[in-house]
Amino acid sequence: MTTAPPRSATLDPETLRGDFPILATRVGDSPLVYLDSAATAQRPQSVIDAEVSFLTSANSAVHRGAHTLAAEATELFEDARAAVAGFVHAAPEQLVWTSGATAGLNLVAYAIGNASLGRGGEAARRFALAAGDELVVTESEHHANLIPWQELAARTGARLRHITVHDDGTIDLEAAAAVIGERTRLVAFPHVSNVLGIVNPVAELVALAKAAGALTVLDACQSAPHLPLDLPALDVDLAVFSGHKMLGPNAIGGFYGRADVLEALPPFLTGGSMITTVTLDEAEYLPPPQRFEAGTQPVSQAIGLAAAVRYLDALGMDAVQAHETLLERRLRDGLRSVPGIRLLGDAPEGIDRVALAAFDVDGVHAHDVGQFLDARGIAVRVGHHCAQPLHRRLGLTASVRASASVYTTVADIDEFLDAVSGVRAYFGAGR
Ligand code: PMP
Repeated sequence: MTTAPPRSATLDPETLRGDFPILATRVGDSPLVYLDSAATAQRPQSVIDAEVSFLTSANSAVHRGAHTLAAEATELFEDARAAVAGFVHAAPEQLVWTSGATAGLNLVAYAIGNASLGRGGEAARRFALAAGDELVVTESEHHANLIPWQELAARTGARLRHITVHDDGTIDLEAAAAVIGERTRLVAFPHVSNVLGIVNPVAELVALAKAAGALTVLDACQSAPHLPLDLPALDVDLAVFSGHKMLGPNAIGGFYGRADVLEALPPFLTGGSMITTVTLDEAEYLPPPQRFEAGTQPVSQAIGLAAAVRYLDALGMDAVQAHETLLERRLRDGLRSVPGIRLLGDAPEGIDRVALAAFDVDGVHAHDVGQFLDARGIAVRVGHHCAQPLHRRLGLTASVRASASVYTTVADIDEFLDAVSGVRAYFGAGR
């Protein structure tokens, strides 16, 4: 098994790249330049090894069975929970495994829907919605943090409202103060936009929500891989993050909750492993986190995600953030200097961002840009990035997105910029 790299103040992506076997891949005649980490990040060998090692030496059902393997699997699974919870400064009981951030957000929406039907008893009444109650999101949501709330509103008669963004992509805090009010029961928002890379003002939004007595839900998918994340310090009630974006496996995500909120929230999925007693008529549920983990869990993926956060921890999230800030500046400055390129969310300097930039090339469709880059071995994301309302707000249907991770080098960014500077000439745009 490869060991995690030693912690250092700065991060050397050239050395790290050796930990990521896929980065040696060639695309046709070109070496791979992977700039699609915001969609799915690559995994270091230690993550792959952790999953394989579990599958080859300890695989069995957790939390049941009296045999040695079951005990070993349970211990590894719960150790993984403690590691991933620790990564976001939470206690193990505050971390629920899900199959991803989408599953976590649906869990909350359906649990609140169940509370609105009277499920969960007296404790859950605080979540119950009625006609006229309001749910608030932002205009910059990923669909995963929008559609579950649309559905919840439709099921309960609540009204879904949104906070607008400025032309530069930053959240309009005056609009937020106007939208969040005494009818607001929940405010859901992204820590970092997956299109703009802007780190949103969590403290301000949480303060507005708290003043209104509303529950806060943070989508931390695009922050957890890139900056130190202390969820209790952010003072949000609930949060989700996604394993495959933070050097971990697919089909695993974290759902975090304040202890008193999780205690009171009724379950969404029900079935095996989340109960104390079951009769033919009714069931009594376990406390969190097990109450929210019905059925067989993604055990090897949880162990892989723990290896991923150990890898990130060994690098040091401050060093990760510093490295990615350098890349972010080079990426955005470079794109700004290419004629015919419009950067989305080109907010003034001084705004914290992650190393991600989405842009439009005047006269060339995003998909053509993507194919042009792919022919040079450069992987980017094209389309609406599951954020149609934000693209509509910015007057577009699609954009090109380049996004970095710990293993991204300055040379990757420069190669990408060099290729992008030739796109318009290649397609005869702007003649
Ligand atoms: N929110 C954001 C901001 C995202 O970028 C993504 C992934 N594209 C999701 C939610 C959904 O995450 P998952 O793939 O874990 O369901």
